[in-house]
This record gives sequence, C-alpha cells and structure tokens, in this order.
Amino acid sequence: MISMSELKKLKVFYHPLSVVANIQKVAGEKYFFMEKPRALFKALQKEGLNFEHHTYKPFTWKDFELCHEPGYVEAVRTGTPIELAESCAIPWSEELVAAIPYATASIHAAAAYAISTGEPTMSMSTGFHHAKYFMGGSLCPFNDLNIAAEKIHKESGLKGLILDCDYHIGNGTDDIISACNQAEYLHNLSMGYLFSRLYVMHNEYLLLLKEKLSKELKSGFPQYVIYKAAADVFERDPMARNGPLSLKEIAKRDEIVFGMIKEAGIPVAICLGGGYHSIETNILIHLNTFKACSNVYFNTGHTYNFSL
Ligand SMILES: [Zn+2]
Repeated sequence: MISMSELKKLKVFYHPLSVVANIQKVAGEKYFFMEKPRALFKALQKEGLNFEHHTYKPFTWKDFELCHEPGYVEAVRTGTPIELAESCAIPWSEELVAAIPYATASIHAAAAYAISTGEPTMSMSTGFHHAKYFMGGSLCPFNDLNIAAEKIHKESGLKGLILDCDYHIGNGTDDIISACNQAEYLHNLSMGYLFSRLYVMHNEYLLLLKEKLSKELKSGFPQYVIYKAAADVFERDPMARNGPLSLKEIAKRDEIVFGMIKEAGIPVAICLGGGYHSIETNILIHLNTFKACSNVYFNTGHTYNFSL
C-alpha cells in the first residue's frame, strides 16, 4: 500500500554518468554549467526536499539518428571530422562522448514516466534546444527534446508540447520538427521568439506566457508537456542581458505553468534550460521550480528562496 508521503514525492531523473567529471579541466572554466545536474541533485538532497530518485537507460547511438543525420551522429561519436563533432561549441573529448547518451536520455525517461503515471517528473537535463538535424549548436550536441517526442510518438502515438521558457530561441527544435516531419505530433512554444520580437518584460511576459499556453492547452493538441524551466530569463543573467524576470517572477512563472497544466489534466515533465549567472543562482532558481511543482501538485507549502 502506498502512503500519502510516497505520493507526494516528485520523481527526479538523474544519472551520475550524465555529468562529465571535472568538466572545467576537460573543456574550460566557462563550462561550469555542465556540472549543473550533479550540483542540483546534491542540493535537492541537502535541502531535504521530498523527492524520489530515478535512474534510466542511456540512449543508443541509433536513437540519435531518430532526429539527426547519421553522418553528424557518427562525427560526434568518433570526433571526426572535428569541425562537425564540435559544431555544438563544446570541445570534443572521450569523456564528453561517454556522457552524452546519459545526458540526453533523461527527458524521455521523465516524460514517459509522467505519461504512464500522470505524475509530474523532473529531468536534470538542460533540454538541448539549439541542436539541429545536421549539426549541433550553442552548447547543444543532440536535441533530447525532439528525440523524446519522437520516441513517445512511436511508443504511444501521443502528441506533445514543448513549452520552452528559455531566454534563447528553440531554433534547433523547430529545425528538427521540420526536417523530421514532426509537426503533426509536436508543437514548440518557445517564449524566446516572443520575448525577442516583442521585448515584453516582467508582468507583461507572464501575461503573454499565460495567453500562449492557454491557447495551446485549449486547442486539445498536447497530450503531454515538456516544460523547459530555464534560469537564464533572470534579469541579471550575463548571457541573456536584461532577462525579462526577477527571481520572484520566475517562481510566479512556474506556479502559473504548473497550475494551468494541472488544470488541463495533462502530464508534465520538467527540464532545466540555460542559466549563466552562477551555479548558485542556477541552483536557487531550479530548487524554486521544484518547490513550485510540489506546491501546486502536492500542496507541500514550500517557501521559495529569493536571496542570492
Ligand atoms: Zn538559454
């Protein structure tokens, strides 16, 4: 028999092999954010938050060919040609190649679990939304969002929505939707496009998000949602410059999103998205996302932390 406290545990999908050990040594200091899955997992433990840890099987190299050109997949696997292997702008290494099948499989595992149980889940992946069909892009080797949707469609025929709340645009996701004819079963609502076109800030951003998400949910199209709950929309993020939201507004964003998806009765899997302010800021924002999800679904009453 399952106790109430068991039901209140958010399921977290993290594999220790998804993180490159000593990434800064291998790739350089600026790649600190690649340690984020491990750092966040440790922080969840340290905070004593009520979660259940799940590991999962890595992707096979054949899985990447679901949404990427086989020649590109082979280039990443072997490191040759090096220009193509490094088209995601991360220096190629055997350590990176060993981690990629684990780093990219957690969104699929989290979404499949959410679909089969109806419970919200959290993947420790960034969601590599810049990876295109023929090449990687901007720190994204393979697009784990499109691959997850492709596998889910093959497994269950379900249609999904990627709710991409990263500061940056989900251009790779759209490229693959087009290249792999996924439009019939995958929508990409990338707030980055709207933000950069309309330059909406703070409350206006949240109102626009509500409007666009509501339209998607009311359309009846998505049967599950992958929510890329990025940290780089933070107003002090150095990469984003003038991000649209304060720390409080990012927590509000998460509450809005979870509230609407819960009301629609659709399963949701969270992934993390970008964030370049500092590892501590990333952790604080993602812990708040975890708390928002737990609060909305399980009435846990967690208080958010807004002090850096
Ligand atoms: Zn970003």
